[in-house]
Amino acid sequence: MRVLQVCAEIFPLLKTGGLADVAGALPPALRARGHEVRVLLPGFDAILAGLEDAVIVCDLYPPAGLSWGAGRARLLYGRLPAADVEAYVIDAPGFYARPGGPYADGHQQAYGDNHLRFGLLGWTAAELAQGLDPYWSPAVLHAHDWHAGLAPVYLRAAQQARHQHLAGSVFTVHNLAYQGCFAAHHFAEMGLPAQFWGVEGVEFHGQLGFMKGGLYHADRLTTVSPTYAAEIQGPEQGCGLDGLLRTRAADLSGILNGVDDAVWNPATDALLPAAFDVADLSGKALCKAALQQELGLAVDPDRPVVCVVSRLTEQKGLHLVLQALPGLVAQGWQFAMLGSGDAWMEAAFREAAAAQPSSIAVRIGYDERFAHRLIAGSDAILVPSRFEPCGLTQLYGLKYGTLPVVRRVGGLADTVVDTQLDSIDTVATGFVFDDFSAAGLLAATARATALHRRPADWATVRSRAMRQTFGWADAARQYESLYLQVQG
Ligand code: ADP
Repeated sequence: MRVLQVCAEIFPLLKTGGLADVAGALPPALRARGHEVRVLLPGFDAILAGLEDAVIVCDLYPPAGLSWGAGRARLLYGRLPAADVEAYVIDAPGFYARPGGPYADGHQQAYGDNHLRFGLLGWTAAELAQGLDPYWSPAVLHAHDWHAGLAPVYLRAAQQARHQHLAGSVFTVHNLAYQGCFAAHHFAEMGLPAQFWGVEGVEFHGQLGFMKGGLYHADRLTTVSPTYAAEIQGPEQGCGLDGLLRTRAADLSGILNGVDDAVWNPATDALLPAAFDVADLSGKALCKAALQQELGLAVDPDRPVVCVVSRLTEQKGLHLVLQALPGLVAQGWQFAMLGSGDAWMEAAFREAAAAQPSSIAVRIGYDERFAHRLIAGSDAILVPSRFEPCGLTQLYGLKYGTLPVVRRVGGLADTVVDTQLDSIDTVATGFVFDDFSAAGLLAATARATALHRRPADWATVRSRAMRQTFGWADAARQYESLYLQVQG
């Protein structure tokens, strides 16, 4: 089957979060099942730099609003060897060649024309389903997050205009909290039929909603864990879209993300000072000593290290960690964090580290390589999120024998099994807590330290964690079954 993945980022070329990991890993996993997969991406500098053997498919002549400001817009086709996938890339420098990030400038201000920049992405996807490339057209459009939310909308508009089913559409929510909402007057710039405005369309509380449009018009909806699929149908986590999601419950499913074994595997990870696996953990001890040394922590094999690798935002619950730091240290932990995000949080973590450098180490920034060393060298990894669609770092933790301490929410609840006296020898893989508070978190880490003082039990749970499989093959099989239901 010919499948077009429509997304704004792809690992390893451009990544701001888990979305990029999925976009990078899913195409090869689908290809292994015999499908022909291509991706469609905006022509950000990092994407264009990674594109090889590019040919021009055509110039793009989008509706007036979408082409405004873009100057030249053309569609390229080539290979992205770093991501091991064939790709269409929208070369529109007026929209995408900017010095800041993909969605916001260097001051974290969202670009004022994001509706056009990502409208063009969705529009081009739908054009590909209508034969824009005479040599290849998709049977299924698989759109990811709000950036691609208009792909199913433009596709629906084209199908209505032609009275023809052109392709199926699947829309995946990686995080419902980012919805791509814009002032209502921008609707007129999008080149969509007037009847697409309204509650039964792209309007969301008087605004133009990209996420809303995707959720309303796609044939099938998915999100990245079964628990999150259920949670977003309720008011607490539905971000105002829970009513729509409940009406679409029959079309909505949760498919857990996998971990790309070529990138995250302690037995083959060239980024580590020493490799290890479940049968021989001596390399992990070396990783820990090297990490303590690198971070200026007291080098002590008996002192447990707990780490965090995260965006520093409200969602991730790291303000709880800040409150819990004295308690963590009192429990005997060393704490090591890699993260970037909210300025006040960056400053507060820096301050905490400066006050207790032998127990707390903080590295602010985004550093893929250090993330590997940090997770491999730690004993536990903390993910105390307020909400978490899937979460990837707890999965890396499981694979690397770094026991996850997580809140029972979203994909965290689906992937980590709490350690209790009666689960140590059966199913336990980490520590799970319910109460979104520093006290809740500390109660879980206290149980983790207790287990750590019993090395044989710790080793039992760690081995089980490392034997869990979160491959992409399973996810690919589940996406495939949806594609088969909707294909054009
Ligand atoms: P989200 O997509 O909400 O940020 P996920 O857990 O799904 O959360 O994915 C986060 C991804 O980004 C993981 O691959 C994680 O290792 C990576 N990551 C987050 N922060 C950093 C950082 N500061 N440096 C390196 N990698 C990071």
